Amino acid sequence: MFVSVAFSLPVDRCFTYTVSPHLEGDVAVGKRVFCPFGKKNIVGFCVSVMEQSDVPQTKEIISVLDKQPLISPQLLELARWMSKRYLCSLGTVLDAMVPAPVKRILGRMQKAVLPAVSKETLLKEAEKRPDKQAMILRYFAEHPEPVFLTKLKSLGLSQSAVKTLVKASLLRIEKFKADETVPSDIRWEEPKVTDLTDEQKTAINEIAKRLGQGFSTVLLQGVAGSGKTEVYIRVAEEAVRQGKKVIVLVPEIALTPQTAGRFKRRFERLALLHSRQSAGERAYEWHRIAAGEIDVVVGARSAVFAPVSPLGLIVIDEEQETSFKQENAPRYHTRDVATERAKQEGALLLLGSATPDVATYQSALLGEYLHLKLKKRVRGGNPPNILIVDLLHQRLSKRNEQSALSEILAQSLLETVSKGEQAILFINRRGYAPLAICTNCRFVIRCESCDIAMTYHYERKKLFCHYCGKEQFLPRICPQCVHSSIRLFGFGTERVTEEVRQILNEKYKVMRVDSDSMRTEEKYIEALQSFKNGELSVLVGTQIVAKGLDFPNVTLVGVIYADWMLNFPDYRACERTFQLLLQASGRAGRALKPGTVIIQTLAPNHFVIEAAKKGDYETFAQKELAERKRFNYPPFAKIVRIVIEAPLQHTAFKKSNTLTDALRKSAVNLPVQILGPAPCPLQRLRNNYRYHILVKSFNWNTLSKLFEPLRPLLFKDPSVSIDVDPYTTL
Ligand SMILES: [Zn+2]
Ligand SMILES: [Zn+2]
Repeated sequence: MFVSVAFSLPVDRCFTYTVSPHLEGDVAVGKRVFCPFGKKNIVGFCVSVMEQSDVPQTKEIISVLDKQPLISPQLLELARWMSKRYLCSLGTVLDAMVPAPVKRILGRMQKAVLPAVSKETLLKEAEKRPDKQAMILRYFAEHPEPVFLTKLKSLGLSQSAVKTLVKASLLRIEKFKADETVPSDIRWEEPKVTDLTDEQKTAINEIAKRLGQGFSTVLLQGVAGSGKTEVYIRVAEEAVRQGKKVIVLVPEIALTPQTAGRFKRRFERLALLHSRQSAGERAYEWHRIAAGEIDVVVGARSAVFAPVSPLGLIVIDEEQETSFKQENAPRYHTRDVATERAKQEGALLLLGSATPDVATYQSALLGEYLHLKLKKRVRGGNPPNILIVDLLHQRLSKRNEQSALSEILAQSLLETVSKGEQAILFINRRGYAPLAICTNCRFVIRCESCDIAMTYHYERKKLFCHYCGKEQFLPRICPQCVHSSIRLFGFGTERVTEEVRQILNEKYKVMRVDSDSMRTEEKYIEALQSFKNGELSVLVGTQIVAKGLDFPNVTLVGVIYADWMLNFPDYRACERTFQLLLQASGRAGRALKPGTVIIQTLAPNHFVIEAAKKGDYETFAQKELAERKRFNYPPFAKIVRIVIEAPLQHTAFKKSNTLTDALRKSAVNLPVQILGPAPCPLQRLRNNYRYHILVKSFNWNTLSKLFEPLRPLLFKDPSVSIDVDPYTTL
């Protein structure tokens, strides 16, 4: 017997091995095998089993690693498609499909405690025992799953009391593989949805009709607060009733306890998959999904590969989110992979958004998708009143040059909190100040590896490079002119938080929410809880606060600087800015209280700002699509970007020229456009010089033809990275 094995290596082929008779029963497609490769032994995926092989002199596989296949035949089919589309090896794709903790071969064993008697006995015993013990017994009566001894404390359970109960034979201790843990329960209560709006009812009917009817795509475009999530849930319930499985994909950042909690309450057999989970939790959830114990999977990007079967429905919420694009090989877009998977498995794809990706919108306009709209807000009320503040004008006024909040924003903030209402301030930059500059010679402190200005972080008292993480102390003396005249300029979340605290009376609590202050899931949940309970008056944060949160008492949203992204040399800059502004606005006035949104900008007349002021998606999309068409950008063209990086500038330059020549040769008689090579806008990153080549064409087939003969050349060079349908061209 022979097997064909795909390795997670940059080689565009599979390798044939012999299977010795004693392993023939174990080996199967989708399992991992351990194989000799060159001078090493490495792990690969078995992608086919054959009786015959014409490869002379094959080596033998050493062992089979999995009891059950990690990759189903359907997912293998999807992987083949991805390997072709995203110009990377099959092994790389297969490797990305399975979460790392699931692939781990060796697991530590650890002691865990679990109930030794029935639920009734636990509850009866709880009546008789002291508080600490009673609490533990009641916990296990509710949650019979094993708890690792190391996790007791985080659940507020006393270890010594547990020992007493083990001695009394009410609980027992057993060893479990440490890399599988039951995820801790999400405690987040929301009022139950009872009445549906007419729009919601129509949408649910229209979508449910398409379930079980083979592949099709629906775009559900609904304004903030229009109840899209409830539509997803009802349609998912219908799919489950039909005996089908459901995958719900949510942007990582929006997978808040709120969203997860909403689904958890409605589906018993539900699993979560996201990166804030511990490795053990991910492994536990994945195995339950693979074993068919789960009906609904809610997760971030990579949950599109969840091993569910039969698949009936894939939902992508906030489908326009950039986090659905994977930035390492395989550089896939979740929406495209979901489309292909739904096609292959005959499932329904439901895309939801308030501000769809203009490419999605275009497909809906062309009639490729069913286009449904939710225009009304579930809890009624009017859309927020949006005010544009011209920063240029404000700066010339008497207010302090160095303040982030304009007078009108500062004033509104004061009024809002003194009425007992809440506010969210949004600034898309972490840290204190994004620029440290010498006021004498204008020298800017840059990262030595990246040639990018470093950001000062007040809490950690250091300058950081947000690209490579390099840190250094803030010099007192300018390295160039030796004057002691280094000053900090601009605003990050830390500085805005500081300013808000100065503006408000100290009885109003302000909390900063960004990836620096919210390092753990617990901290994040805690912050959101205290905001919900009204203990906090103001949240200041990065996009983490602009998305997926729903607090009825928030009546003011301030956008500190709207143009930050607008000036990026990137074809999606306008779209991303518009989406962010609309999402941020969506946080205001979600209940009956009227909401106000204040957007501060240096470009008040820009079409993005004007469309955001009116909350007018259609006008924005028409304009943006016209621009894309004019400059031949997606969705009107398909783009492949090739980046060449090297420590020496001339090496990078030479390589990019060689590659461009090869591309031009292959492009003869093909309708493609090859641009470059040119230096990347971020020309130096992490000690590498960077050049890029852009290849444009009208369809993927042409691009496949162009790249087919070049695959071996492109794959083997680690300094070359290929991004198909890139989300950024920086
Ligand atoms: Zn200087
Ligand atoms: Zn750097």
